[in-house]
Amino acid sequence: MRRLLLLGWFVALWSTLALVASPSHTLDAHVFAVIGDFGLDGTDEGRVAALVKSWNPDFILTVGDNNYPTGAQATIDANIGKYYAEFIYPYTGAYTNTATTNRFFPSLGNHDWYTTNAQPYLDYFTLPNNERYYDFVWGPAHFFALDSDTHEPDGVTSSSAQAQWLQTRLLGSSSCWNVVYFHHAPYSSGPHGNSAWMQWNFGAWGADVVLAGHDHTYERIVLDGFPYFVNGAGGAALYTFGTPIAGSVVRYNAKHGAMRVTATPTTLTYEFIDVDGTTVDTYTQKGGCSFLYLPLILR
Ligand SMILES: [Zn+2]
Repeated sequence: MRRLLLLGWFVALWSTLALVASPSHTLDAHVFAVIGDFGLDGTDEGRVAALVKSWNPDFILTVGDNNYPTGAQATIDANIGKYYAEFIYPYTGAYTNTATTNRFFPSLGNHDWYTTNAQPYLDYFTLPNNERYYDFVWGPAHFFALDSDTHEPDGVTSSSAQAQWLQTRLLGSSSCWNVVYFHHAPYSSGPHGNSAWMQWNFGAWGADVVLAGHDHTYERIVLDGFPYFVNGAGGAALYTFGTPIAGSVVRYNAKHGAMRVTATPTTLTYEFIDVDGTTVDTYTQKGGCSFLYLPLILR
Protein backbone atom coordinates (compact mmCIF):
# COMPACT_ATOMS: atom_id res chain seq x y z
CA MET A 1 0.00 0.00 0.00
CA ARG A 2 2.73 2.35 0.99
CA ARG A 3 4.54 1.55 -2.27
CA LEU A 4 1.37 2.19 -4.25
CA LEU A 5 0.92 5.53 -2.50
CA LEU A 6 4.51 6.43 -3.33
CA LEU A 7 3.98 5.43 -6.95
CA GLY A 8 0.87 7.63 -7.01
CA TRP A 9 2.86 10.57 -5.74
CA PHE A 10 5.52 10.04 -8.39
CA VAL A 11 2.92 9.90 -11.16
CA ALA A 12 1.29 13.07 -9.85
CA LEU A 13 4.67 14.79 -9.66
CA TRP A 14 5.53 13.69 -13.21
CA SER A 15 2.26 14.99 -14.57
CA THR A 16 2.66 18.31 -12.78
CA LEU A 17 6.25 18.74 -13.93
CA ALA A 18 5.35 17.86 -17.49
CA LEU A 19 2.46 20.32 -17.52
CA VAL A 20 4.62 23.05 -16.05
CA ALA A 21 7.40 22.26 -18.49
CA SER A 22 5.27 21.80 -21.58
CA PRO A 23 4.64 25.42 -22.67
CA SER A 24 8.34 26.29 -22.94
CA HIS A 25 9.97 22.86 -23.14
CA THR A 26 7.75 21.12 -25.66
CA LEU A 27 8.82 18.08 -27.61
CA ASP A 28 9.44 20.44 -30.55
CA ALA A 29 12.62 19.74 -32.48
CA HIS A 30 15.48 22.18 -32.65
CA VAL A 31 17.80 21.78 -35.63
CA PHE A 32 21.41 22.91 -35.60
CA ALA A 33 24.27 22.45 -38.05
CA VAL A 34 27.88 21.45 -37.36
CA ILE A 35 30.65 22.40 -39.78
CA GLY A 36 34.37 21.68 -39.47
CA ASP A 37 37.62 22.67 -41.16
CA PHE A 38 35.55 24.84 -43.47
CA GLY A 39 37.14 28.31 -43.60
CA LEU A 40 38.71 28.26 -47.06
CA ASP A 41 37.05 30.66 -49.50
CA GLY A 42 36.07 28.64 -52.59
CA THR A 43 33.59 26.35 -54.30
CA ASP A 44 33.68 23.56 -51.70
CA GLU A 45 32.97 25.88 -48.77
CA GLY A 46 30.22 27.52 -50.85
CA ARG A 47 28.49 24.22 -51.54
CA VAL A 48 28.60 23.22 -47.86
CA ALA A 49 27.22 26.62 -46.84
CA ALA A 50 24.35 26.28 -49.33
CA LEU A 51 23.57 22.81 -47.94
CA VAL A 52 23.59 24.06 -44.34
CA LYS A 53 21.35 27.04 -45.14
CA SER A 54 18.88 24.74 -46.94
CA TRP A 55 18.18 23.18 -43.53
CA ASN A 56 17.22 26.56 -42.05
CA PRO A 57 19.02 25.65 -38.81
CA ASP A 58 18.49 27.48 -35.50
CA PHE A 59 22.26 28.01 -35.33
CA ILE A 60 25.64 26.72 -36.49
CA LEU A 61 28.45 25.19 -34.42
CA THR A 62 31.95 24.98 -35.82
CA VAL A 63 34.57 22.45 -34.78
CA GLY A 64 37.47 24.70 -35.73
CA ASP A 65 39.79 25.78 -38.52
CA ASN A 66 37.52 28.67 -39.36
CA ASN A 67 40.11 30.70 -41.25
CA TYR A 68 42.81 29.09 -43.41
CA PRO A 69 45.71 29.16 -43.81
CA THR A 70 46.98 31.17 -40.82
CA GLY A 71 43.97 32.65 -39.01
CA ALA A 72 44.85 36.09 -40.39
CA GLN A 73 42.80 39.25 -40.11
CA ALA A 74 43.20 39.77 -43.89
CA THR A 75 41.37 36.53 -44.78
CA ILE A 76 38.83 36.06 -41.99
CA ASP A 77 35.85 37.83 -43.55
CA ALA A 78 36.18 36.14 -46.97
CA ASN A 79 36.62 32.76 -45.24
CA ILE A 80 33.72 33.09 -42.80
CA GLY A 81 31.48 36.12 -43.34
CA LYS A 82 31.18 35.64 -47.09
CA TYR A 83 29.32 32.38 -46.43
CA TYR A 84 27.86 32.71 -42.94
CA ALA A 85 27.47 36.45 -42.17
CA GLU A 86 23.71 36.17 -41.68
CA PHE A 87 24.31 33.95 -38.61
CA ILE A 88 26.85 36.24 -36.92
CA TYR A 89 25.94 39.02 -34.48
CA PRO A 90 27.33 41.51 -33.84
CA TYR A 91 28.95 41.48 -37.29
CA THR A 92 31.56 44.00 -38.43
CA GLY A 93 32.50 42.52 -41.83
CA ALA A 94 31.69 43.57 -45.38
CA TYR A 95 28.97 41.09 -46.39
CA THR A 96 25.22 41.50 -46.18
CA ASN A 97 24.01 40.85 -42.68
CA THR A 98 20.62 41.39 -41.07
CA ALA A 99 21.19 39.31 -37.92
CA THR A 100 19.89 40.67 -34.64
CA THR A 101 21.04 37.74 -32.49
CA ASN A 102 24.13 35.55 -32.70
CA ARG A 103 23.51 32.11 -34.22
CA PHE A 104 27.14 31.19 -34.99
CA PHE A 105 29.13 29.45 -32.25
CA PRO A 106 32.66 28.61 -33.42
CA SER A 107 35.52 26.84 -31.67
CA LEU A 108 39.22 27.46 -32.23
CA GLY A 109 41.35 25.22 -34.49
CA ASN A 110 45.12 25.07 -34.92
CA HIS A 111 44.90 27.23 -38.06
CA ASP A 112 43.08 29.94 -36.11
CA TRP A 113 46.01 30.00 -33.67
CA TYR A 114 48.73 30.51 -36.35
CA THR A 115 48.30 34.26 -35.88
CA THR A 116 49.52 35.42 -32.45
CA ASN A 117 46.94 34.99 -29.69
CA ALA A 118 44.31 34.01 -32.31
CA GLN A 119 43.60 37.74 -32.18
CA PRO A 120 41.71 38.08 -35.51
CA TYR A 121 39.25 35.36 -34.38
CA LEU A 122 38.77 36.96 -30.97
CA ASP A 123 38.22 40.35 -32.63
CA TYR A 124 35.83 38.99 -35.27
CA PHE A 125 33.46 37.12 -32.95
CA THR A 126 31.63 38.21 -29.83
CA LEU A 127 31.20 35.08 -27.71
CA PRO A 128 30.43 34.22 -24.06
CA ASN A 129 32.96 33.75 -21.24
CA ASN A 130 36.57 34.27 -22.45
CA GLU A 131 35.49 33.51 -26.07
CA ARG A 132 38.10 30.69 -26.34
CA TYR A 133 35.92 28.29 -24.36
CA TYR A 134 32.35 29.01 -23.37
CA ASP A 135 28.89 27.54 -23.01
CA PHE A 136 25.32 28.41 -23.89
CA VAL A 137 21.86 26.84 -23.69
CA TRP A 138 19.56 26.45 -26.69
CA GLY A 139 16.26 24.57 -26.48
CA PRO A 140 16.72 21.27 -24.64
CA ALA A 141 20.51 21.21 -24.91
CA HIS A 142 23.52 22.84 -23.26
CA PHE A 143 26.53 23.42 -25.51
CA PHE A 144 30.15 23.60 -24.42
CA ALA A 145 32.78 24.94 -26.86
CA LEU A 146 36.34 24.08 -25.84
CA ASP A 147 39.74 25.22 -27.08
CA SER A 148 41.73 22.04 -27.77
CA ASP A 149 44.80 23.83 -29.16
CA THR A 150 47.96 23.62 -27.06
CA HIS A 151 48.30 27.43 -27.26
CA GLU A 152 45.30 27.67 -24.91
CA PRO A 153 46.51 29.69 -21.87
CA ASP A 154 44.27 27.71 -19.47
CA GLY A 155 45.61 24.37 -20.67
CA VAL A 156 44.25 21.40 -22.60
CA THR A 157 44.94 18.45 -20.28
CA SER A 158 42.16 16.69 -18.38
CA SER A 159 43.31 18.41 -15.16
CA SER A 160 43.73 21.89 -16.69
CA ALA A 161 41.83 24.99 -15.58
CA GLN A 162 39.79 24.64 -18.77
CA ALA A 163 38.87 21.02 -17.94
CA GLN A 164 37.92 22.04 -14.39
CA TRP A 165 35.70 24.76 -15.83
CA LEU A 166 34.00 22.15 -18.04
CA GLN A 167 33.40 19.79 -15.12
CA THR A 168 31.89 22.58 -13.03
CA ARG A 169 29.65 23.77 -15.85
CA LEU A 170 28.51 20.21 -16.69
CA LEU A 171 27.67 19.61 -13.03
CA GLY A 172 25.57 22.77 -13.02
CA SER A 173 23.70 21.91 -16.23
CA SER A 174 19.99 21.22 -15.92
CA SER A 175 19.50 20.68 -19.67
CA CYS A 176 18.27 17.42 -21.21
CA TRP A 177 21.46 17.08 -23.28
CA ASN A 178 25.06 18.23 -22.88
CA VAL A 179 26.98 18.64 -26.15
CA VAL A 180 30.76 19.19 -26.04
CA TYR A 181 32.62 20.35 -29.16
CA PHE A 182 36.15 21.39 -30.12
CA HIS A 183 38.74 20.95 -32.87
CA HIS A 184 41.26 18.15 -32.16
CA ALA A 185 39.45 14.79 -32.29
CA PRO A 186 40.19 12.58 -29.26
CA TYR A 187 39.76 9.57 -31.55
CA SER A 188 40.14 9.41 -35.33
CA SER A 189 41.09 6.96 -38.06
CA GLY A 190 42.35 9.83 -40.22
CA PRO A 191 45.98 10.93 -40.75
CA HIS A 192 46.10 13.09 -37.60
CA GLY A 193 44.96 10.09 -35.55
CA ASN A 194 43.96 10.40 -31.89
CA SER A 195 44.59 13.70 -30.13
CA ALA A 196 45.24 11.86 -26.87
CA TRP A 197 45.46 15.01 -24.72
CA MET A 198 41.75 15.58 -25.41
CA GLN A 199 40.67 12.14 -24.16
CA TRP A 200 38.99 13.57 -21.06
CA ASN A 201 36.35 11.75 -18.98
CA PHE A 202 33.54 13.46 -20.85
CA GLY A 203 30.88 10.83 -20.17
CA ALA A 204 31.64 10.55 -16.46
CA TRP A 205 31.48 14.35 -16.17
CA GLY A 206 28.00 14.44 -17.68
CA ALA A 207 28.51 15.02 -21.40
CA ASP A 208 26.40 13.09 -23.93
CA VAL A 209 28.54 13.50 -27.03
CA VAL A 210 31.81 14.97 -28.36
CA LEU A 211 31.93 16.67 -31.76
CA ALA A 212 35.36 17.42 -33.28
CA GLY A 213 37.22 17.91 -36.56
CA HIS A 214 40.90 18.38 -37.54
CA ASP A 215 40.91 15.34 -39.82
CA HIS A 216 39.09 16.33 -43.01
CA THR A 217 36.80 13.34 -42.95
CA TYR A 218 33.53 12.22 -41.42
CA GLU A 219 33.68 9.47 -38.83
CA ARG A 220 31.47 8.12 -36.05
CA ILE A 221 33.24 6.34 -33.23
CA VAL A 222 31.36 4.79 -30.32
CA LEU A 223 33.36 3.80 -27.22
CA ASP A 224 31.53 2.26 -24.23
CA GLY A 225 28.30 3.61 -25.67
CA PHE A 226 29.64 7.18 -25.85
CA PRO A 227 29.60 8.77 -29.35
CA TYR A 228 32.53 10.74 -30.76
CA PHE A 229 32.16 12.42 -34.15
CA VAL A 230 34.89 13.65 -36.48
CA ASN A 231 33.39 16.19 -38.88
CA GLY A 232 36.12 18.05 -40.77
CA ALA A 233 34.59 17.92 -44.25
CA GLY A 234 33.30 21.50 -44.33
CA GLY A 235 35.43 23.01 -47.09
CA ALA A 236 39.18 22.26 -46.99
CA ALA A 237 40.60 19.37 -49.07
CA LEU A 238 39.47 15.95 -47.86
CA TYR A 239 41.83 13.39 -46.28
CA THR A 240 42.21 9.62 -46.69
CA PHE A 241 41.74 7.16 -43.84
CA GLY A 242 44.33 4.92 -42.22
CA THR A 243 43.50 1.66 -40.44
CA PRO A 244 40.17 2.04 -38.61
CA ILE A 245 40.61 2.50 -34.86
CA ALA A 246 38.66 0.54 -32.23
CA GLY A 247 35.07 1.75 -31.99
CA SER A 248 34.97 3.25 -35.48
CA VAL A 249 31.51 2.57 -36.91
CA VAL A 250 31.17 4.82 -39.99
CA ARG A 251 33.85 6.48 -42.13
CA TYR A 252 33.25 8.74 -45.12
CA ASN A 253 35.53 10.97 -47.18
CA ALA A 254 34.07 10.89 -50.70
CA LYS A 255 32.50 14.37 -50.65
CA HIS A 256 32.31 17.46 -48.50
CA GLY A 257 29.35 17.87 -46.18
CA ALA A 258 28.09 18.84 -42.75
CA MET A 259 26.17 17.47 -39.80
CA ARG A 260 22.52 18.25 -39.14
CA VAL A 261 21.53 17.57 -35.53
CA THR A 262 17.94 17.48 -34.34
CA ALA A 263 17.37 17.89 -30.61
CA THR A 264 14.20 17.18 -28.66
CA PRO A 265 14.05 16.73 -24.87
CA THR A 266 14.17 12.94 -25.33
CA THR A 267 16.16 12.36 -28.54
CA LEU A 268 19.28 13.68 -30.22
CA THR A 269 19.60 12.67 -33.88
CA TYR A 270 22.84 13.20 -35.77
CA GLU A 271 23.05 13.07 -39.55
CA PHE A 272 26.00 13.60 -41.85
CA ILE A 273 24.78 14.86 -45.22
CA ASP A 274 27.03 15.35 -48.23
CA VAL A 275 26.93 18.34 -50.60
CA ASP A 276 24.67 16.44 -53.00
CA GLY A 277 22.10 16.01 -50.26
CA THR A 278 22.73 12.32 -49.61
CA THR A 279 22.41 11.27 -45.97
CA VAL A 280 25.55 9.27 -45.29
CA ASP A 281 24.96 8.45 -41.62
CA THR A 282 22.11 8.72 -39.09
CA TYR A 283 22.49 8.05 -35.38
CA THR A 284 19.93 8.65 -32.64
CA GLN A 285 20.54 8.89 -28.91
CA LYS A 286 17.56 8.38 -26.63
CA GLY A 287 17.22 9.52 -23.05
CA GLY A 288 17.72 13.14 -22.11
CA CYS A 289 14.63 14.20 -20.18
CA SER A 290 12.68 11.00 -20.93
CA PHE A 291 11.91 10.54 -17.23
CA LEU A 292 10.38 13.99 -16.96
CA TYR A 293 8.52 13.76 -20.24
CA LEU A 294 7.08 10.26 -19.80
CA PRO A 295 3.55 11.62 -19.12
CA LEU A 296 3.71 13.69 -22.33
CA ILE A 297 4.93 10.74 -24.38
CA LEU A 298 2.31 8.38 -23.00
CA ARG A 299 -0.50 10.86 -23.49
ZN1 LIG B 1 43.17 21.34 -37.77
